[in-house]
Amino acid sequence: MSGRKRFFIEKLQGDVSEVYLEGEEFIHAKTVLRVEEGAEIILLDGSGKEYSAIVAKIEKHRLLAHITGSIDGDREPQTEIYLLCGALKGDKTELVVQKATELGVTKIGVFASEYCSAFMNGNKIERLKKVARESAKQCMRSRVPEIEYFNDLVGALKSADGYDNKLFACEFLESGSGFDLSRISGSTVAVVGSEGGFSQKEYKLATASGFAGVSLGKRILRAETAAISMCALVAYALGELK
Ligand code: SAH
Repeated sequence: MSGRKRFFIEKLQGDVSEVYLEGEEFIHAKTVLRVEEGAEIILLDGSGKEYSAIVAKIEKHRLLAHITGSIDGDREPQTEIYLLCGALKGDKTELVVQKATELGVTKIGVFASEYCSAFMNGNKIERLKKVARESAKQCMRSRVPEIEYFNDLVGALKSADGYDNKLFACEFLESGSGFDLSRISGSTVAVVGSEGGFSQKEYKLATASGFAGVSLGKRILRAETAAISMCALVAYALGELK
């Protein structure tokens, strides 16, 4: 099924044999990918299933697809990986969302913190959701990571309740002194700061909330490098990159 164009649709309820593709996904199909009637496509409803379908009719604002079969997608990670990343300047948050999606992250939270100077608004969050969707299609995932925004670090840390491993990448930890990432198993949340980094107070808050400080070595990484590296390291340690 790998050569066929992939599109996300609303969650399908029950046994459905035809479905309309609408909105942005339709525009992308029609004007960018130039999908034609008779084309074989894949529809993804976020449940993890992949539906094979044939484009039966293209209308002005939607297309009708006939579903011909379904399989369970097998490219989703077995373990929950949640990235919490400080809001970054320019389009850096988009970069992180794109790469984290490729690396199999299941959820992404973006937060404001003490030394964070980037701002988020509704449009930017919508844009991040679109980036996640496009990235998920490109890397053949059948689910799109959920994206959430937190006004402060407290809310972001709270959203990590219940995860088996709670990791906090901290630039002022001495290298070698932090938590050993290779020891993890089970659902994992990784927090990475924005360009301004974290304050001592924020680090204390995180450890008091059950997070373990992680060092990424002796060099100070750019926030986007740190975020993407954390995703790769966690996914690797959990056996998700095999
Ligand atoms: N402005 C800060 C650097 C921030 S780097 C300074 O000048 O010190 C942005 C984020 O990347 C940090 O908050 C941390 O989460 C992560 N990071 C960067 N380098 C790191 C390292 N060596 N170890 C752990 N985390 C690191």
